[in-house]
Amino acid sequence: MKSLVLFSNDLRLNDNDAINSSIKGYDSTTFLFVFDKNLYLKTHGSANLWWLKKSLDHLKENLKGKKITLHIIQGDYIKKTLEIIEKYKFDSVFINQNKHPEFIKKEEILKLSLKRININLFAYNKATLVDPALILNKTGDPYKVYSPFYKNCKLLYSQKEVLKFPSINIRNFIIEEKEIDTSKVFSINNNKWSEKFDKYWSPGEDNAHISLEKFFKSSLSNYKEVRDIPSVSGTSKLSPHLRFGEITTNQIINHFKFHDNHALSKHEEHFIKELYWREFSYYILFHFPYVIDKPFNKKYENFEWEVNYKDNLEKWKKGNTGIRIVDAAMNELLETGWMHNRTRMITASFLTKNLLIPWQEGEKWFRDNLLDADIANNVMGWQWVSGCGTDAAPYFRIFNPLLQEKKFDPDNIYTKKWLNNFDLYTDDHETDLLTNNDLIKPIINLSNSRNIALERFSKIK
Ligand SMILES: Cc1cc2nc3c(=O)[nH]c(=O)nc-3n(C[C@H](O)[C@H](O)[C@H](O)COP(=O)(O)OP(=O)(O)OC[C@H]3O[C@@H](n4cnc5c(N)ncnc54)[C@H](O)[C@@H]3O)c2cc1C
Repeated sequence: MKSLVLFSNDLRLNDNDAINSSIKGYDSTTFLFVFDKNLYLKTHGSANLWWLKKSLDHLKENLKGKKITLHIIQGDYIKKTLEIIEKYKFDSVFINQNKHPEFIKKEEILKLSLKRININLFAYNKATLVDPALILNKTGDPYKVYSPFYKNCKLLYSQKEVLKFPSINIRNFIIEEKEIDTSKVFSINNNKWSEKFDKYWSPGEDNAHISLEKFFKSSLSNYKEVRDIPSVSGTSKLSPHLRFGEITTNQIINHFKFHDNHALSKHEEHFIKELYWREFSYYILFHFPYVIDKPFNKKYENFEWEVNYKDNLEKWKKGNTGIRIVDAAMNELLETGWMHNRTRMITASFLTKNLLIPWQEGEKWFRDNLLDADIANNVMGWQWVSGCGTDAAPYFRIFNPLLQEKKFDPDNIYTKKWLNNFDLYTDDHETDLLTNNDLIKPIINLSNSRNIALERFSKIK
């Protein structure tokens, strides 16, 4: 009996149900990753692809250390997998569910196609803590607000055992297929721009656990306070590792002995709540799949966005808005492939509520440039800030980037770090600007644009 483990965004050896189950009762197992160019370009941004390549290389090396081959081949996800299953006569296929809507569709087709040829597909879920379909309110409907969702989800999630990679020798069945050169294939949209990511990031399962340990030792004890300061490395930076399933939320929560009568500190509790925000994003995407490109709150479909915004959008993307903290944050993104949560909110608010550019444009740019670009978290982040999502910031809450900077970066440590031309920005955008032509001028008047936004929002509230 032969089993096949098919990877997608579960690039880890531990807490991997597909791997552990694939060896029970089978004589040999094969490990496979199919790079379907259309599918991966649709579901991964350029920065994501950089991470994917590195993470796959890491996984391949780790498996090699166990004398197991990870076959990385190219082809249509369904056709190629079926071709291999029939050619080598596999008896069962094991996957960990991928919760991206495009993969959900593919996995469903794969399941039906395999059923027709009498082959089982075993699919496990560690992408979320609880299966989203199981969390419903008393009337059987999905929750639309985070707090009751959190309460209910926490009750349903009984800390699952963290699986270890099997200690027994796995008999690895090698298939003869053309392997792809990951350094060529994944550079499709990548150029010199992504080379610098090496300076900031180390993808791969082992590095995910190193980041977790580091965060536990250095920042968790102050998390609730420091998580909002963009100049401080006070958050876990686990987001890209979670995005590619190098670590599971189950593994992270187990670190807290969550259900062991262990009293959580306010910092631990806050961190766990953030993990549940991720859970909530996936939950909303599952129950309301239209949110991928339309507002959760449908009345905002009629919001009056600017029409001719191309120039301002380009300036925002390149960090040329003349608003110091916005430009610093956009530079952080271009340089490192990541942006602090506080400045994600500030830049998103500026784009949607000052420049009045549709949130979908910002979501698209983040999707292509963030290493952690994650369909559920990105869409929900953008909808929350722009005021059209669940639990959204009320329409009249428009971040003032100048006040945000004063509060969260009072000594300009963050803005100085990410702006070469820091000295050309003024503190309040008013003094000197009329007399000194060398200074950088904002592309928009903050208070006028705020009033226009308020007026337009009030029309549909
Ligand atoms: C406009 C906008 C876009 C965003 N796009 C993404 C995205 O594409 N991918 C992404 O993973 N996160 C996104 N976020 C959420 C958040 O900014 C990042 O998860 C966080 O900054 C990642 O850093 P960290 O791992 O150090 O977070 P930590 O503070 O250490 O949190 C740990 C984990 O909890 C989850 N988490 C934290 N904050 C949030 C949140 N607000 N919503 C959902 N989950 C959260 C993440 O998985 C994160 O890795 C976005 C937020 C906004 C406002």
